[in-house]
Amino acid sequence: MKRLATTIIIVLLVIGGCSISSSNEDKDSSVDQVKDEENHDDNDNISTSKNEENDEKEEIAEDKEAEDDKEEVSKSMTPLYEVNDVWSIVPIDNANDKVVLLTIDDAPDKYGLEMAHTLKELDAPAIFFVNGHFLETPEKKEELKEIRDMGFMIGNHTVTHAYLPDLSEEEQKEEIVELNDLVEDALDERPKFFRAPNGANTDYTKKIAKEEGMTLMNWSYGYDWEEEYQTKEAITEIMLNTELLSNGSNLLMHDREWTAKALEDIVTGLREQGYELVDPHTIKTE
Ligand SMILES: [Zn+2]
Repeated sequence: MKRLATTIIIVLLVIGGCSISSSNEDKDSSVDQVKDEENHDDNDNISTSKNEENDEKEEIAEDKEAEDDKEEVSKSMTPLYEVNDVWSIVPIDNANDKVVLLTIDDAPDKYGLEMAHTLKELDAPAIFFVNGHFLETPEKKEELKEIRDMGFMIGNHTVTHAYLPDLSEEEQKEEIVELNDLVEDALDERPKFFRAPNGANTDYTKKIAKEEGMTLMNWSYGYDWEEEYQTKEAITEIMLNTELLSNGSNLLMHDREWTAKALEDIVTGLREQGYELVDPHTIKTE
């Protein structure tokens, strides 16, 4: 019984963590499904206690159920997508190809936490690419944890947002590995994706990222650092109507005021065009 309860909790956690990419309806239905399973199990247990003779049989059935649950868990961990050579998110097998990925860089600065709350409300998954210079106080580390605990993935964007090709190899390594150490210190896990500031990798940073078990990820398009797009209206309009938006697009946004304000309209607009927001937890990593 205890094992079954634990299994259910694990399944709930995994489904909770991994299904954030699905639409609201999908998510509701998967949660309902788990609830149904839970109720069903409770009923089973009542009947078990009523009929002690069947205890052994039930135990075997529970074991089998636990096995099935384990299978379900491992199935849900199987990557559905991968990053291709132009940083698009493409199905590995027959997953929905009409998806886009949201990424928020230079976080958690002033608006990252607010942006995470907005996305969470919308059940919209994303990767937050973080910098070490925003994680210098216990409060900011707590903020990072809050973002991760809402189900978002945390990516490596270096310690100081340095332009890596200008640095010595030793410095490049520090920028990358120390950020992972910082994140691990705060979250007990190391980032699985690496995005170099300005997308500027060197052969050496690629090697370090690989050694650290991280997948490289630049982006398909982004505009919010350009002056003409620094209003809610302008950034919403370009993010939704750029000709670069297509299946698998990897959308770059930043921890900025105008982007924070536009985020809800961007998510809604993408969904209105039929795009599903892909859960980064389903993307294959190193
Ligand atoms: Zn950046």
